[in-house]
Order: sequence, then C-alpha cells, then structure tokens
Amino acid sequence: MNTMEGKKVVVTGASRGIGAEIAQTFAAYGANVIGTRTRPTDCSDSPCTKWIIADFTDLLQVYDCAAEVKAIAPDVLINNAGINKIGEFTQIAPEDFLRIQQVNVFAPFLLCQSVIPSMRNRKWGRIVNISSIWGQIGKEFRASYAASKFALDGITITIAAEHSQAGILSNCVAPGFTDTELTRRVLGEEEIRNISAMVPIHRMAKAKEIASFVAWLASDENTYITGQNITIDGGFTRV
Ligand code: NAP
Repeated sequence: MNTMEGKKVVVTGASRGIGAEIAQTFAAYGANVIGTRTRPTDCSDSPCTKWIIADFTDLLQVYDCAAEVKAIAPDVLINNAGINKIGEFTQIAPEDFLRIQQVNVFAPFLLCQSVIPSMRNRKWGRIVNISSIWGQIGKEFRASYAASKFALDGITITIAAEHSQAGILSNCVAPGFTDTELTRRVLGEEEIRNISAMVPIHRMAKAKEIASFVAWLASDENTYITGQNITIDGGFTRV
C-alpha cells in the first residue's frame, strides 16, 4: 500500500494536465502537496495546500521559487512544468530556444539544487523529472524541446550518481502522447485518431496513468530504481 502520510511533495505545473493529476494522486496517498503555477487563477478544486506563483520564463521568478522550495524542504520534488514550441530547425528563434531551456532545464536544475541538502540531511528524498519520449528518440521540428528533455535526463542521472547513496533516488519519467486538455486543443480529433493508430495500445495515455507511476516511483516502495528514464508510451517507441 503506497502511503505518503507526513510527506511534503512539491509539484511544478500542478494547475492542469499531468501535473494536476500528479498532485491529486499524491494527495490521495496522504501527502501535503505544494504546487506551482504561473498565475493566481482559480484552482479551488485542487488538493494543493499551498501554491507558489512562478513563471519560469522570468529568471527572477525561478530564483524566488527555488528559495521558497528550499524553505519548504520537501521530501519529494516533481519537476513537471514544461513548455514546447515546434519549428523547423533553421527557423527556430534563438530567444524561443533559450526560453524553453530556461523553463524545462534551468528551473528544474535550480529546484533540484534547492532540495538536495535537506534531503541529504533526512537521508531520504525522491526526485522525479518529467521528460518525454522526445528526450529519448528523435523527431523533426522538436530541437528546442528535445534539447531540453535530453538535458533534463543528464541532470537526473548525475544527481543519481552523486546522491543515491545518501537515500535520494532520482529518475525521469518519459510520457508518450498523453490525453490532456492542451493535447486535445492543439492536435484536434483527427490527428489524435492518427496518433492513436500508431501506438500499440491504440490510444493516448491518460494523465492518471502517468501520475500513478510517478507517485509509486517517489514512494517508500521504490527502494532501488534510480538514474533511470522510464518510458510510459503504450509501446510507441519500442515496436
Ligand atoms: P500542460 O497541460 O500544458 O500544463 C503545464 C503546466 O506547467 C501548467 O501547470 C502550467 O501552469 C505550467 N507552466 C506552463 N508554462 C510555465 C512557465 N513558463 N513557468 C512555470 N510553469 C509553467 O502540460 P502537460 O501536457 O500536462 O505536460 C506536463 C509535462 O509533461 C511537461 O514537462 C511536458 O513536457 C511533459 N509531457 C507531456 C506530454 C503530453 O502529451 N501532454 C507528453 C510527454 C511529456 P499554468 O496553468 O499557470 O500555465
């Protein structure tokens, strides 16, 4: 039985999509969940007990958020917030490339730095960084996003190498096509049907399927998985 009673869990990007489902799952297991989001919009149905408002495209807000997270000293950090902009390689605006690295890599990097000392003192900690299958295999038009997710994996394995023996297990979870509000809006029904046909399970992942695994990976039940980049894609990248 997965219990997170008494554990403090920080989830970035907990206001919607996969992050909201991760927050729900941890809360259902009894954790005290602290979420981040970019704006003070209505999240009254969220289980988060506290919100940090931080837009990671603004460097100062990344530093402020890291300071707040350091003060919380969470047992578990889930770096979920992420952005993407698709474009042919030679057409990528440098400022877009840098913005994506700042949100998807620099913010997780700084947040990991801010939680590791307290996790080491406690001799227990779990870090899960939400990557993507595009941080494992290539696809056209995704240079900025792929660069960020491959980099996130690099951070994750280095933390595992340096801190696993101190009880901090550090992993990436790499979702494939996942059914979120945003995915539905961006892709549309026809594209979703085409994508689903390419996935051996013949449908996209539900956010809950990602969240359940993330919660398990960050629980006491995981005692030996660290330094991994675990794919949840219905078999897409393997067959
Ligand atoms: P989403 O629905 O777009 O939600 C993104 C979350 O991140 C929201 O809580 C949002 O907060 C926050 N966020 C957005 N821009 C931000 C910024 N500039 N600074 C700080 N926070 C920001 O995303 P999702 O589809 O659930 O994806 C979550 C993670 O899974 C991402 O890392 C993504 O790369 C990864 N992923 C997603 C899929 C997929 O198919 N959906 C597949 C593979 C990997 P606000 O509500 O305040 O904007």
